[in-house]
Amino acid sequence: MWRQPPRLSREGEAERLRPRTLPLGLVLTLLVLGLPLNAALPWTVHSQPTRLLNGAPVLFQVKPPAKLDSLTGTWLGHELTFSYNPSTRTWFALAGVDIERTPGKYTLELTAHSATSKAPLKFSSAFAVSRARYPKIKVQLAVEKKFTEPSPEQQAQIAESVKVKQDFLGRVTLDREWNGNFAAAVDAATSDVFGSQRIFNGVAQRPHFGLDYRVPTGTPVAAMNDGTILLARFLYFEGNCVVIDHGQGLLTLYFHLSELKVKEGNSVKRGQEIGLSGGTGRATGPHLHVAIRWQGTYLDPARLLSLSLP
Ligand SMILES: [Zn+2]
Repeated sequence: MWRQPPRLSREGEAERLRPRTLPLGLVLTLLVLGLPLNAALPWTVHSQPTRLLNGAPVLFQVKPPAKLDSLTGTWLGHELTFSYNPSTRTWFALAGVDIERTPGKYTLELTAHSATSKAPLKFSSAFAVSRARYPKIKVQLAVEKKFTEPSPEQQAQIAESVKVKQDFLGRVTLDREWNGNFAAAVDAATSDVFGSQRIFNGVAQRPHFGLDYRVPTGTPVAAMNDGTILLARFLYFEGNCVVIDHGQGLLTLYFHLSELKVKEGNSVKRGQEIGLSGGTGRATGPHLHVAIRWQGTYLDPARLLSLSLP
């Protein structure tokens, strides 16, 4: 009943792994818990940060028990495709936890494939999600009436913008393009954080799903990481906006720009200028709004910037 697939040694030579001897106590515990014995294989799964929060990104790092060709996973109903880091012999993927997620235990399911094994290796690891505290400060903001009471013609423009966003922002490229740490788009103080509640002209809005930087019009805005320009155009609320696809389902969004410096389909590197800041779209004044979207859910950009990434 104790079987392991053969694995390739470094020279590419097939060798059989010797069965591991499990302590009797552990075997009995696993049997009592109804867990398969291969759950005791030395997989290690880590998260960064260690404490997972709703609205926050997370880096999963996996050290499998054998050499793999590919590793995929499912997390909160999303698909993950892992990348391999040969220097640490770990597989890694960026993911996130949606802001509405109830605190509790959630399982990361892993499926590994190797050329030497027909059946995929399976492993699962449970992670606790804790509640993040987001500011409840209500700010009264005045914007042009076309944003709170749009005319029928403006409503048609809004519908067009909504359609563009549905078409583009729902796309998921599982292959990774991002590389290393994310960097701030501008070097400036922030004026509003992720998750705060806002009121425009007395009308309550959904929480603020981005990070605002206090920058004057014309400030160069840089790509936060390597990727491909998914969108570079004017949208009703966002104004001139750029969206970069970094792969693994991760997008960065830059709103209210006065000028676009890239075209859809362009490849960009971290730090490359993608536009100039401004106050286009629904903005109370010039500033840069940056947002992080992972597979349809907005995540806190400040928390992504604080991750130390491979
Ligand atoms: Zn904003």
